[in-house]
Amino acid sequence: MPAVVISGKGCSLNVSKLSRGVVLKILYPILMLVAAFMKSRKESFQHAIIRMNNRLVRAEKTRTKKILILLPHCLQISDCEIRLTHNIYNCKRCGRCEIRDLIEITDAFKLNLSVATGGTLARKIVQELRPEAIIAVACERDLSSGLVDTFPIPVLGIPNERPFGPCFNTRVDLDKVKEAITFFGRD
Ligand code: SF4
Repeated sequence: MPAVVISGKGCSLNVSKLSRGVVLKILYPILMLVAAFMKSRKESFQHAIIRMNNRLVRAEKTRTKKILILLPHCLQISDCEIRLTHNIYNCKRCGRCEIRDLIEITDAFKLNLSVATGGTLARKIVQELRPEAIIAVACERDLSSGLVDTFPIPVLGIPNERPFGPCFNTRVDLDKVKEAITFFGRD
């Protein structure tokens, strides 16, 4: 969907951003209410919200280098004892999990990278770093609620891969992360 901008006297309204607000602040709570009675559909509803959000964020065409990459702690392999929550650069870069690759990617683009153990910490990181755009990796539940919390900041959400089930040794498609970085940071 193209970004439609309606301009009036001193006012400019980005229709894509407005639509994103409707999706996140109105449609999302309605779907979660419906999901309370249709529990098996909850994750597919959350996935649909993320997809709609991403489409609308892309239509807004935000360009910025002030990007925050926000990761879930379950990307770190479970038997690694290094604490990454307050400083992801504690990682020894052994390569047993994708944290090393994500550090290398974000270093190459000179971006902020953080691991959050939950919504409260994620909100704190966003408040401190004040990014102009976010690339967030998480499960559908945390991603969809995080999109609502951080609106109107444009966030591209990338659901993680969970080959061993939820919250355990999860993975992310690194090409999707790189594509999202180049989307926001393109010249
Ligand atoms: S790359 Fe190695 S040191 Fe870094 S978080 Fe993963 S397992 Fe731990």
